[in-house]
Amino acid sequence: GTTTVVVIGAGVAGLTVANLLRRTGIDCVVLERHNRDHVERRQRAGVLDFAAEQVYVRAGLDDRLLAGAPASGSLEIRVDGVSRLFDAAAHTDGRAGRLLPQQVLVRRLIETFVDSGGDLRFDSADVRPHDIDGDRPYVTYLDANGHAQRLEADYVAGCDGFHGVSRSVVPPDALTTYRHAEDVGWFTVLTDSPPPKYPLLALSRHGFAAHFGRGPHASRFYLQCPPGDDLDAWTDERVWRQLRLRLADDTLPDGPVVEKAVIDARSFVVDPMSYGRLFLVGDAAHIVPPMGGKGMNLAIADADVLAHALHAAVRNGDDGPLRAYSATCLRRVWNDQEYSRWLSDMVFHGADQSTAGPFHWHLARSRLDRIFTSTNAARAFADLMAGTA
Ligand code: FAD
Repeated sequence: GTTTVVVIGAGVAGLTVANLLRRTGIDCVVLERHNRDHVERRQRAGVLDFAAEQVYVRAGLDDRLLAGAPASGSLEIRVDGVSRLFDAAAHTDGRAGRLLPQQVLVRRLIETFVDSGGDLRFDSADVRPHDIDGDRPYVTYLDANGHAQRLEADYVAGCDGFHGVSRSVVPPDALTTYRHAEDVGWFTVLTDSPPPKYPLLALSRHGFAAHFGRGPHASRFYLQCPPGDDLDAWTDERVWRQLRLRLADDTLPDGPVVEKAVIDARSFVVDPMSYGRLFLVGDAAHIVPPMGGKGMNLAIADADVLAHALHAAVRNGDDGPLRAYSATCLRRVWNDQEYSRWLSDMVFHGADQSTAGPFHWHLARSRLDRIFTSTNAARAFADLMAGTA
């Protein structure tokens, strides 16, 4: 078969590219390794920042995608049991994001794409792009029945996440890779227990913990732990005990623990985010530490840049925006990389003095205090939370 754009991966990045292309009548086929049920159940992010929300507003997709998603304006920061509310929306002239669990967004993106006649092929195995440095790339894969298929295209969008195949077909000497490992580990749990009133970051001598809502009945928690910590050591009983200590809340309601993971808090960027006719989008090109809540939002921002650039190339014969794709995206990526690190360092170093030592503990607490005492510092923080335009 042939199409204009092959999109590899039906995560937030791939589905956003596909829906935006569809809006302007550009043909594309989405190839996804997993089945629909699996993709729609994957619970990860929970906050759409203002910049990402605007991508869908500009495309006229907000009614379908964002219906019922409440504004996310404030953040509670609890230091040694003392709470302060950071009113982000007040410092950004109302540019607040939305609380929208990633899997809800993914489900709606799939529905919108399929309802508009979009071609989305789940259970596609052994997907592999070829001839990406030529004029006519093609992608081979095994369809859901195990039959070998070949799709020719003008462009390939590699939206297949950090462990996908797209980045691996680029010759290594064509990419510069930047990596940074954190000095702490992240233990995260998903629970069927009530969400907090506001997204909550808690620092204390017991270590850092965060509590975020994931819809009306679910929560995601993060707890600082030693890097590469043993998952088995985190019994449910220990999880709740540690959370009550770290959040300084004896009455924290518990509930079934649905998922536990020790995650790799890596920072990762490839430059450039393209090679020939292949464009890397979202986690395929970069990973940011989870605390800034930017991973999903960067994926949406990249997708928007790529969809517009593809439109200019396909409809107007102007490939300038495609040539600028990587540089355009990387400005935002590095900005959010810096923000995510800044926030992670502040909450980790400001929690337990043993993490980075007493000197960094004082620096972190001072930084944290500044966002409550300086309007300019508060505006800068709130601006980063909202996402850069
Ligand atoms: P993905 O969502 O990973 O999608 C990639 C898709 O490609 C998947 O559907 C995959 O099945 C498919 N695929 C992979 N390989 C192939 C292949 N070879 N062939 C075909 N298809 C393939 N971000 C935030 O903004 N805020 C948060 O609070 C947040 N919390 C997180 C919590 C956790 C536990 C995790 C793991 C991540 C979190 N993130 C968060 C990050 C966010 O989830 C990712 O940045 C986001 O999913 C990136 O979207 P993507 O479409 O680029 O990649």
